[in-house]
Amino acid sequence: MKSDLQGILDALLDGVIVLDENGVIEFLNTEASRLLELPDESPSGECLVEALDANHPVCEIAEHVRRTGRSSIHDEVEIPRRLAQSTPVDIAVSIRAEEKRGPSGLVIALRDRSASQSLREEIHERERQESYGHIAAGIAHEVKNPLGGIRGAAELLSMRANDDRARKAADLIVGEVDRISGLVDELMVFASGDGLDLQSVNVHQPLDALLDLLEMEKGHEEIEIKRHFDPSLPEFEADPARLQQIFLNLARNALQAMEGGPGILTLSTGMSIEHRLISADGRPLPTIRVSFEDNGPGIPYAIRDRLATPFFTTKQKGTGLGLSVSRHWTRRHGGRLRIESVEGEGTRVDVDLPLVPFHSKPDLDTPSTQDAKQ
Ligand code: ADP
Ligand code: MG
Repeated sequence: MKSDLQGILDALLDGVIVLDENGVIEFLNTEASRLLELPDESPSGECLVEALDANHPVCEIAEHVRRTGRSSIHDEVEIPRRLAQSTPVDIAVSIRAEEKRGPSGLVIALRDRSASQSLREEIHERERQESYGHIAAGIAHEVKNPLGGIRGAAELLSMRANDDRARKAADLIVGEVDRISGLVDELMVFASGDGLDLQSVNVHQPLDALLDLLEMEKGHEEIEIKRHFDPSLPEFEADPARLQQIFLNLARNALQAMEGGPGILTLSTGMSIEHRLISADGRPLPTIRVSFEDNGPGIPYAIRDRLATPFFTTKQKGTGLGLSVSRHWTRRHGGRLRIESVEGEGTRVDVDLPLVPFHSKPDLDTPSTQDAKQ
């Protein structure tokens, strides 16, 4: 039974530590070792203050409970990490029931808020993406087919038109039908299991192609484009055409946000140390970050939640598909797209991608990645 219990506690998503009355670790499960960065072979027999440090928040709270004899709960205590930013952890310390009379042992429960938060978001996000897929498939069927008929009829009218006005009207119909058709095609990316053409890619290839493209576009002469590229980034497994599509959408948004005035768009690349993607089995993955930073007007707080919903746009001629499609392709690569914005100061969009060497495929259809730290 004891080893069963160990297995069960190790499978828990919460960390559990059991201390005896002298503060010596009697038991520690896997999640607690991970959160407190203690070695895997549980240091039972060691004092918690020796394994960590007397100033460690968990030790301080445990000591307080031991002194006062009262259980306590603390939300989102920042737990220091050696190589990453601190992690918000809910800590509950209670007194072991059987020893309430004498000197008490303690049970400490730890819950990693960053992981559970992003897991919840991840599930929510997946459900949303799936529902876009259903809607897209429905629209494709109900809209795309009649559009073909309308287009054909309009072309016929255009050919047979006797006067210029009628021909122009018919051509207008054809043009607008093509526009709607294009939108439906774009929306279809959510519906189809459209695959990635994975290759070994240096992330700077699609970025350089993007910069060439932007240089040829007119209308943003007042905007300076800065690049902070880390030339040491290794090649990784990705679809360069899809990456370019993501990057183009994000760069266009930044340029459009700064339209009409001077502005700076900063493109940067590098390894992400603080915010890393996590594999299905909880290991941090090496993560490449590509950032698009502008000093435009920023995004009003009220619309943050709707940004990546297909067709949400604040622009007169916007399609509202740029962010949602970019997020879709980022996720198909096993990555994550994050938007940060301060009204009046600017916006930064980070595309985090797992640095997987070419050929070793990540399982893209499971929620294999989540952000280590939100
Ligand atoms: P579209 O560009 O066609 O409007 P997107 O999905 O690309 O669609 O963007 C949705 C909305 O998000 C935009 O209409 C805009 O309000 C907001 N947005 C996106 N990027 C930025 C940015 N860099 N600065 C300010 N607002 C932005
Ligand atoms: Mg856009």
